[in-house]
Amino acid sequence: MDQRSIDRPGVADAPEPPQTERIERELLSQLARRMQLSAATSFIGYGLQAVLLIGVVSPRLLAIWVAAVALCEACNGIIAYRLGRSVEEPARRARWLALLHLGLLMTSSSWGAVMLLPGVSGRLDVQTLQGLCIAVAGIISVHNLAYHRGCLAMFSLGFALPVTWATLLDGFPPQLALAGAALVVMTQIYGWSTRALTLNVIRTNIVNAQMTAELRRGHDELTELTARLRRLAMLDPLTQCLNRRALMEEMSRERARCERYQSRFGLIMLDLDYFKAINDRHGHGVGDAVLVAASARLREQLRPTDFLGRWGGEEFMCLLTHASAGAVHEKAESMRRSLERDAMDIAGLVVEVTTSVGVAIYRPGQSLDELIEAVDQALYRAKASGRNRVCS
Ligand code: GH3
Ligand code: MG
Ligand code: MG
Repeated sequence: MDQRSIDRPGVADAPEPPQTERIERELLSQLARRMQLSAATSFIGYGLQAVLLIGVVSPRLLAIWVAAVALCEACNGIIAYRLGRSVEEPARRARWLALLHLGLLMTSSSWGAVMLLPGVSGRLDVQTLQGLCIAVAGIISVHNLAYHRGCLAMFSLGFALPVTWATLLDGFPPQLALAGAALVVMTQIYGWSTRALTLNVIRTNIVNAQMTAELRRGHDELTELTARLRRLAMLDPLTQCLNRRALMEEMSRERARCERYQSRFGLIMLDLDYFKAINDRHGHGVGDAVLVAASARLREQLRPTDFLGRWGGEEFMCLLTHASAGAVHEKAESMRRSLERDAMDIAGLVVEVTTSVGVAIYRPGQSLDELIEAVDQALYRAKASGRNRVCS
């Protein structure tokens, strides 16, 4: 059997994006989350730098610098938030990503511009201290920006501009500028390796998610297949009544219950009369249809707690739970009448069917074999005494 042909109602498989696209989405989502965090926490670093500059830079200029970097960070936070919301739409996310590049360039260049503020400019001790602050905070930022090469590059470039300016025109020692450049190269390498590690984790996660989904699908299919097999193993394929084995199981269960509570249940065994003659006269197909129609009529008579099984060829057995002898006998009579009363219409062909019925009541202590023997004997008596009747 083709397992894929099994319907799974309610499960709509949305098309999976290609692997590279899923990786890109995941990288950008993580970048967006990190950038929001970085925008929210960067003020600690700026605050520290501003405190170190009190008395060195005029309060007005210091306030302008802090306002500039704070504005850049706030913009980055908003852009990162919008990027995170649009990762599944390539065109929109490309626009937010381009804006983020610009934002990062603005942020790092205005951050680095602290080297050129009047008061800092030309004062090697202050510039070096500020450079150190930038280097430490910059390394932390690289960790956040490692998710995207372009963002990482823009951020580093932003720093390079003021330092280059300070070196060329402001007397900043070239050795320190070189140390800064080495730091940028180092952080780039560190950023790339972090990115490679992150990529590995994302790829593994995607493969795991695919395998989990596959396993879940397989498990669902197996569960459904098992349920279908169980139904097939329990039902008679022609009449859809319980088969003999399933009915025996129900009888054992009911017998155990009756043993426990000292109660009773009834068996009704029915055998269609002269059924061979129906086959002989109308063919096996009509005989089959009569069996199906007869089982449907018998089923109509039962309570939801009762069971109907096909015992053999044209023999049926009913298990009536929690029933008195009188009620079982009455039910057997009603079943017999329901077949006798109305002839069956089998594709336009009128077929008259009667049935002989045996009845037995389970009494605590009795074995199932004894009970079945008793109902079989009752049926035999119904046949022997002229058919189309109920005997107990
Ligand atoms: P009696 O009144 O003594 O029960 O007579 P009968 O003809 O019903 O009983 P008998 O045992 O002589 O014949 C039963 C027939 O049922 C024989 C068999 O071919 C037929 N039969 C058994 N199973 C099926 C089935 O699945 N489909 C059809 N069409 N006939 C079946
Ligand atoms: Mg028979
Ligand atoms: Mg028969």
